[in-house]
Amino acid sequence: HPLSGDHSGWIEVICGGMFSGKSEELIRRIRRAKIAKQKVAAFKPAIDDRYHQEAIASHNGLMADARPVKSAGEIPGLLEENVDVVAIDEIQFFEPEIVDICQQLADQGKRVICAGLDQDFRGKPFGPTPVLLAVAEYVTKLQAICVKCGGPASRTQRLIDGRPAAIDDPVIQVGAKEQYEARCRHCHEVLR
Ligand code: ADP
Ligand code: ZN
Repeated sequence: HPLSGDHSGWIEVICGGMFSGKSEELIRRIRRAKIAKQKVAAFKPAIDDRYHQEAIASHNGLMADARPVKSAGEIPGLLEENVDVVAIDEIQFFEPEIVDICQQLADQGKRVICAGLDQDFRGKPFGPTPVLLAVAEYVTKLQAICVKCGGPASRTQRLIDGRPAAIDDPVIQVGAKEQYEARCRHCHEVLR
């Protein structure tokens, strides 16, 4: 089997802002692994995702089955025998221990593919993603299209009632009428 040798196992990270195509790319890699008859297990954090509870869903409508987990620590116990590929979406929402879990799985010979936001709405490194980027073998950083200037967009603009969010707003805010759009460094705004 192509992934069963002694020196198999590594970490891939797909990062970028919202709408950059992270989920699309993760789904593409999952599908290709399945075509190659590899056993894939996919996970996502169990947050208030009302729509696709059991799937990774991209903004352009692609889907792949994924099991929601409350914490990263659940993942190893949920893996069936002979899983070749472990795919994890929205890694920014996991606790720091996700890093050790990914490292252990890769050490055990699994191909670990993580996707998530590298920056929060303020443009600051987001949760465990920057640490995963450091320890990964392969990193793919995607860009969306800036909705203001049409250039490559590395950032996520957060709007609350149509206005740029303030620097001290909580990263995760439940209940506010908020919206996100792709913007480049220069068009990205944070109220201070
Ligand atoms: P991510 O997981 O990074 O948020 P998705 O894979 O869910 O990204 O969605 C990518 C899709 O979003 C693109 O293929 C495109 O159809 C759509 N899209 C909407 N707005 C934009 C934008 N500003 N730039 C690029 N793609 C966008
Ligand atoms: Zn721009």
